[in-house]
Amino acid sequence: MDMTPVSRTILVAGGAGFIGSHLCEALLAQGHKVICMDNFQTGRRDNLSGLLDHPNFRVIKGDVEELPEIRDRVDRIYNLASPASPPAYQADPVRTMMTNVVGTNNLLALAEKKGARLLQASTSEVYGDPEVHPQPEGYAGHVNCNGPRACYDEGKRAAEALCYDYLRAGRAEVRVARIFNTYGPHMQCDDGRIVSNFICQALSDEPMTIYGSGEQTRSFCYVSDMVDGLIALMELGETPDGPVNIGNPGEYTILELAELIRRVAPTSKRPVFRPLPKDDPKRRRPDIARAKSLLGWAPRVPLEEGLEKTVPWFSQALQRPMAVAGRTAETAEVTR
Ligand code: NAD
Ligand code: UDP
Repeated sequence: MDMTPVSRTILVAGGAGFIGSHLCEALLAQGHKVICMDNFQTGRRDNLSGLLDHPNFRVIKGDVEELPEIRDRVDRIYNLASPASPPAYQADPVRTMMTNVVGTNNLLALAEKKGARLLQASTSEVYGDPEVHPQPEGYAGHVNCNGPRACYDEGKRAAEALCYDYLRAGRAEVRVARIFNTYGPHMQCDDGRIVSNFICQALSDEPMTIYGSGEQTRSFCYVSDMVDGLIALMELGETPDGPVNIGNPGEYTILELAELIRRVAPTSKRPVFRPLPKDDPKRRRPDIARAKSLLGWAPRVPLEEGLEKTVPWFSQALQRPMAVAGRTAETAEVTR
């Protein structure tokens, strides 16, 4: 039997972002040809710096809302194109909704045209402020459709609906990953998410900003575990009957997270308390029974260990102020 690994052409939309850049790296390491398409709204060329010279890697500056023509064969499409942090997706909510709805539709149409399989990066936000805990995929969610998070939550829900409409109609083969809070190197100090905020605040000896009482919970997945889960779902032989949660079920209050980060990045400053944003979910924890049984996947990196890998990366990044300034980073198209 021929055991040569299959080399595919894989489009990663949103590949210059935090998770996308790690995914591109992992796919290249597996011997695939990777086309990274990104509009650099929240992603950075810096995230790809180690990949740009790779002979199987190409970057296209492009927006999923107005998809540039792709002449290559495409076997797989990962759709990660969307701002993900609350400040980033709320900065231009209409654009966020359109990126998720129009952009996902465009990529599904591309999958149909190319005969490619598409994996949609959905989110635990489809469960909103959940009334069921932990959250299994069968839970339909509790989302406020007219609050400040709606552009993202409802955009992602509509994107899932589109995916399953294409699948039911036999137009494209799709997989939907519901991603729970993920952290690691390549996040940006200024992106507003909890792990990056707390680490950068601690490293700069600024007080950590705790929103609300800090008793709300999240479950944090290290990025290498996330990438393994996404690839496993994409490459699963049979199309799963619905979305799959990918996340780490270890659940922590925000106060507990602050304490863990203080151990890795000691700071003399006491945390400060700020108002809780509207519709902020109170509890979140994935039920990953489906991922375990379908994919044989479970996260391997405990939170303390993941933070020990993440803090030194931020520490180095903070030495390069332009590198963490983030959204203003240089965005020129790179093609080969
Ligand atoms: P990120 O903001 O770092 O990456 C998103 C990437 O998409 C960026 O490079 C951005 O420039 C690009 N992008 C945005 N709009 C685009 C458009 N219209 N056309 C082309 N590119 C566009 O975020 P991330 O944390 O890496 O998240 C990646 C995906 O995973 C997102 O779809 C997000 O919704 C999803 N997700 C992430 C998390 C998490 O905790 N990181 C949780 C749930 C879901
Ligand atoms: N949060 C906080 N301080 C910060 C940033 C976030 O207390 O500096 C809280 C936020 O209110 C939420 C949790 O941390 O309860 C996770 O926020 P994040 O934006 O990372 O992710 P999401 O709310 O989308 O899960």
